[in-house]
Amino acid sequence: MEKGLLVPDELVISFVFKRLLEPDCAKGFILDGFPRTLNQAKALDEFTKIDLVILLDAPLDVILERALGRLICPRCGAIYHTRWKPPRRSNICDNCGSVLEKREDDNPKVVKQRYEIYLNTFQPIINYYKDRKILVAIDASRSTSDVIKEIERILEEKHLL
Ligand SMILES: [Zn+2]
Repeated sequence: MEKGLLVPDELVISFVFKRLLEPDCAKGFILDGFPRTLNQAKALDEFTKIDLVILLDAPLDVILERALGRLICPRCGAIYHTRWKPPRRSNICDNCGSVLEKREDDNPKVVKQRYEIYLNTFQPIINYYKDRKILVAIDASRSTSDVIKEIERILEEKHLL
């Protein structure tokens, strides 16, 4: 994971499916970051019925800018951004006063590598869900609150909320 590479399929699939069998998933669930391969997507379809797939779409320059400005509090886990959500005091956590850190894999080389892997592995998955007509693409280069509003609107429209 430090290298920005992905974890083997079978491991992820069994981990996710085991979690989905727990009682709190009986009425529905939202998956974030899964499936990451076509193999996982097909396994998921055999496991359960997927109602909707939301693609949060953003170009590399937007992703780089977001990742490279990200600051994380090592003590309480709060997340900041140098430009979009700066802490009140430079590099100090608002909640607990700890010195903020950058995540080791938030550097241009790893972010670009992750994006390359993303493009190579996700296009077949995107096409797979497009063919099944359950994919909705959202422009995620807008503000977080705009993106959340649109997700809520789509979920309401599809009677999933
Ligand atoms: Zn903190």
